[in-house]
Amino acid sequence: MNILVVAAEVAPFAKVGGLADMAGALPRAWTKDGHSVAIVLPKYGHIDVDTYGITKVADGIAVPFGHWTEYATIWTCPMPGAPDVPVYFIESTEYYDRPGIYGYHEGFEDNDRRFLFLSCAAFELCRAIKFVPDIIHAHDYHTAPCMPLLKVRFRHEPLFQHCRGVFTIHNMAYQGLYDPARAMEFCGFPVEDFYHGSWYEQDGVFNCLKAGIMFADKVTTVSPTYAQEIRWTPEGMGLQGALQARSGDLIGVLNGIDPDEWSPRTDLHIPVHYDRTTIDRKDISKLALLRQFNVPESDLTADLPLVGMVTRLTDQKGIPLVLEVLEEFIEAGHCRFVMLGSGERRYESFFVGLAQRFPSRVLVGTGYNTPLSHLIQAASDYYLMPSRFEPCGLTQMFALAYGTVPIVRVTGGLADTVTQYDPITFLGTGFRFVGYNADALRTAMYDALRLYKRTPHWDAIRSNAMNQDNSITTCARRYVEIFGWACEK
Ligand code: ADP
Repeated sequence: MNILVVAAEVAPFAKVGGLADMAGALPRAWTKDGHSVAIVLPKYGHIDVDTYGITKVADGIAVPFGHWTEYATIWTCPMPGAPDVPVYFIESTEYYDRPGIYGYHEGFEDNDRRFLFLSCAAFELCRAIKFVPDIIHAHDYHTAPCMPLLKVRFRHEPLFQHCRGVFTIHNMAYQGLYDPARAMEFCGFPVEDFYHGSWYEQDGVFNCLKAGIMFADKVTTVSPTYAQEIRWTPEGMGLQGALQARSGDLIGVLNGIDPDEWSPRTDLHIPVHYDRTTIDRKDISKLALLRQFNVPESDLTADLPLVGMVTRLTDQKGIPLVLEVLEEFIEAGHCRFVMLGSGERRYESFFVGLAQRFPSRVLVGTGYNTPLSHLIQAASDYYLMPSRFEPCGLTQMFALAYGTVPIVRVTGGLADTVTQYDPITFLGTGFRFVGYNADALRTAMYDALRLYKRTPHWDAIRSNAMNQDNSITTCARRYVEIFGWACEK
């Protein structure tokens, strides 16, 4: 099958969250199974051509956009570690050659134009490189407009005649709300096709996510529980109606993790490798992490449990609950806490402030730091994820693979990946709580910390966690099955 992946983020080139991990890992897995894949993303200013050996393939590719034509340059390189997966970068100095991917907080003012251009350019790229896709796989609101573009503008062209569109929702909270006049014009859609109740419209504006949902042949989201939640609960963020309308084509596919990148047996960023039988070596990583944060020698002990988090600092991730309970645990000396996060300034300053007050117990990294994100997974005893909502979540899966016991709120993909440990049957991989409140989190944390290094539970729970298979292979094959259904349509 020929699969064209179009995404605003693809790891390792441009990453903000789990979308990038999936857009990078799925193509690798598909290629191993014999499919032919091409990935398209913008050539952002921060992407270093020398690091990845990126070369120019075509200059001045015409991209009809609105009532005029714009031009893009195409660059390419093989996906690192997967020479059979070509990655194509759309260069437009006007749109992408600036710091950042989306722009801080509110986003860049011209994000509508930037991402609609990306969607339009993806089709022209296929023409330029003579790639005949069976499937265009678009991710999240940024590239959702590929779905209506395929059905409205390109379906009569021989190149796209047999092509089907599959749209994957990684997060309903970001929908891409654009000015309808601009959006319809940029896409080359007749402006009279935008009206109240049309497939592009929600609450009077152009809604990319809704358009993606309505025009795609199949719609997927990143976990089975989230697929239900978004239809029936406020997690649908106002688009429950659209999702109900497409319920026969809406499928939850649990994300997976790439063992080439996330395995404690081979991880390049951790001081010592380990597996289930040598899991006690995690303590070596823990001491290395404490040293990295300049914890004084007198406090360097692996005996105090370490609770870790690597996260965007937003309400979605349950940060307000952490703010409420963390200090009490630290003050009482129940655990150490390490966090790597970036996002809302008020949260960053809270954690930085706490780290100043408890320098050897609260360790905080801000900014984006891939090596540290790996070390935290290997070094921590527990991984905290008290999300308010969580479409899938990858970091709890990394934690499971690294034998780091997750403490999670039961929502979305967290509900699908972490089972409650039962000290009678010795089954279960972590600790769960249901209510979105500080008391529920506090209780789960006490329950979890009580088991720290206690025989036989500590071995049982960590071994259950490491035994769980969350590999990308299963997930990638499920997508191919869905692509097959889309092609039957
Ligand atoms: P989301 O996509 O909602 O942010 P996920 O758990 O699905 O959450 O994916 C987050 C991804 O981003 C993981 O790969 C995680 O390791 C990574 N990540 C998040 N924050 C940072 C950071 N500050 N530095 C490095 N990696 C980070």
